[in-house]
Amino acid sequence: MEAYYDRDVDRGALDGKTIAVIGYGSQGRAHALNLHDSRHAVVVGLRPGSAKRDEVRREGLQVASIPDAVSAADVVIMLIPDEEQPGVYLRDVVEHLRPGTALAFAHGFGIHFGTIVPPGDVDVIMIAPKGPGRLVRTEYENGRGVPCLVAVHQDATGHARAIAFAYASAIGGGRAGILETNFREETETDLFGEQAVLCGGMSALVKAGFETLVEAGYAPEMAYFECLHEVKLIVDLMYERGIEGMRDAISNTAKYGDYTRGERIITDQTRAEMRKILGEIQSGTFAQEWVAEHAAGKPSFRAFRAKAAQHEIEHVGTELRGLMPWLNGGQTAAEADDGLRFRVL
Ligand code: NAD
Ligand code: MG
Repeated sequence: MEAYYDRDVDRGALDGKTIAVIGYGSQGRAHALNLHDSRHAVVVGLRPGSAKRDEVRREGLQVASIPDAVSAADVVIMLIPDEEQPGVYLRDVVEHLRPGTALAFAHGFGIHFGTIVPPGDVDVIMIAPKGPGRLVRTEYENGRGVPCLVAVHQDATGHARAIAFAYASAIGGGRAGILETNFREETETDLFGEQAVLCGGMSALVKAGFETLVEAGYAPEMAYFECLHEVKLIVDLMYERGIEGMRDAISNTAKYGDYTRGERIITDQTRAEMRKILGEIQSGTFAQEWVAEHAAGKPSFRAFRAKAAQHEIEHVGTELRGLMPWLNGGQTAAEADDGLRFRVL
């Protein structure tokens, strides 16, 4: 994939355009503030009674209802949770879109799986920073940026690609690198990553390791430190240096155990299951299941959460994290709850 930088981008493609940022969560706040600091006209669209109204004003941005923000805009970016987007789109967005507007997303789910079907006379684009909103904001403030994916689903004006690149550049992506993809690739790889590796795979691996040690009679506290707490050390090393770079930083004993045992954990059966999970994503089976679950009021979703919260690893973890005041910047988990509303994926 070729990386594009600010010098490759025509920032003029956004000149004179008003950008409506719908939602002021993790991505919304970062996009809105970065666009504003890049001297673009920004209006933040919030639902009636939103608790964010005063915060947005305090941070120097204009606020409007979602319909008013969309009506005023040349570019509309949907930065509310993916499962909420179809409802909000139908209720407050579609009838206010003018021909030639660019409708933008930070993830391809709605467009790729057809839960949102825009009219033919608007551009449909994606600008997806590869990092949490907080990092998108702090890197921008520090004169740097977070790499950004861009994609065009529909080019009604002939300028869709230029607008996507200019937008990515305005939020800081062009300082780090802008990569071009398409809605299908972004959506399917994103879902696969979170299901098989980052969230689903990782939490199942940690829990299985913890349970194995506890069942064998070891102290849950020891199991917690070894199978959960220390994940961060290893992941940080992989993030900064890659897998072999991480191995440079561990003992030879750890390295030898890693090389000889790891593949016994991720077996052919695991890989076959990964392909099956990918197949469910590609066929739309997963999307259908999740859309139906959301429409039904998320009953199994709630049940999974309630059950997971009861696992011994959560009880031990709450106690042990209390011994580590540097976690959450010295706050308790409850005090830090405010920070938890900033989603990272
Ligand atoms: P978020 O949950 O942090 O914020 C969502 C915002 O939408 C909040 O301000 C919330 O109050 C508001 N909201 C929720 N329901 C609403 C409704 N029904 N009507 C109006 N407003 C509503 O969301 P996020 O993580 O910033 O995700 C936004 C988009 O960005 C998603 O498409 C997501 O896939 C994508 N994305 C997120 C990240 C990330 O790191 N968080 C990274 C790349 C892409
Ligand atoms: Mg995702």
